[in-house]
Amino acid sequence: MRTFVRGLAARFIPARGRQLLGTAIESARSRAYSLPVVGARFAAASFDRLQRAPRQLNIEVTSICNARCIMCPREKMTRPMEPMSRALYEKIIGEAAGLGIKRFALNGYGEIFSAKKDYRYFITHLLARIPDARVIINTNASLMTEEAAAFLIDAGVDTVHVDIDGATAETYEKIRVNLHYDLVVRNVRRLLELRKARGGGFPKVRVGIIRQPANEHEVGQFVAQWEGVADYVCRDFLVNRAGSVGLPTERNVRNACALPWFELNLYADGSAVLCCDDWNVEEPLGNARTQTIAEIWRGPRFREFRALQALGRAGEIGLCSKCNWARPGAGWFRKHVRRYAEARGTQG
Ligand code: SF4
Repeated sequence: MRTFVRGLAARFIPARGRQLLGTAIESARSRAYSLPVVGARFAAASFDRLQRAPRQLNIEVTSICNARCIMCPREKMTRPMEPMSRALYEKIIGEAAGLGIKRFALNGYGEIFSAKKDYRYFITHLLARIPDARVIINTNASLMTEEAAAFLIDAGVDTVHVDIDGATAETYEKIRVNLHYDLVVRNVRRLLELRKARGGGFPKVRVGIIRQPANEHEVGQFVAQWEGVADYVCRDFLVNRAGSVGLPTERNVRNACALPWFELNLYADGSAVLCCDDWNVEEPLGNARTQTIAEIWRGPRFREFRALQALGRAGEIGLCSKCNWARPGAGWFRKHVRRYAEARGTQG
């Protein structure tokens, strides 16, 4: 067969062409042998790109909250409970604009509508500075008045996410202490009605139920209530907040966690943490008051933690060793993690 192909090539391809073809085949062969190394180098370069800037900023515009949810550790927080100062917020948004960040979740362990005077400012300033920003609001919706709902629609907020952890007032109010089921449901429905009346499709409304022993029996009922009403209906996994939640939690398969590669969390006092589960700044990674967000994100501690995650050594990070939910990330991310680990392996 090979002789036949060579015969055909000799007859129909001029000598110079045959030479070039032979060189190309040899070169392809040698590259094929070194593909794992090339792939690993590519993965390392891709990870370097991810380490230049976060894809999403989670900014805790206030650490004050009006609820006392049973699965939230915030009551034990020793950091200040206060809104973020405007000066700090403007510094962060200015730097984010320079880095090309487009996705923002304006929350942490506080309720954005607790910042009664400032919530409009936080959203308006962000969208004035970065008009194509995607703004996500996580709220318990108890303080989301008609005026606030209209503002979210008119301002151009992308998504409003409300966890309603039950299908009845009895169950909901056992979990979401201090809040009222009927009021929350009414507020979410009113947002949807106002949006419809204005003829727009945004914000998208996502409602979720965080599955836990107190509401497990109402998950089906919850989904039936909201399907076809909200845009997204989610059954969420109970996160143990790096070992701080005293409720029974399942443990997921130990993956490299994607969060430290994609999201930067900044709390109201400027502290930066590894992920949203570090509610009391157990692993401080910097402070946006005194550092730029690029310095924090590219800093040696962040890089070290990412490397440990990618190399399957997350157990060496105090926070991650107690966590029940390492976020796996997308398929391409997992593939890159494997290649990154190979690259590190080839470097010894
Ligand atoms: S493994 Fe858990 S604690 Fe560690 S970064 Fe991921 S979510 Fe956070």
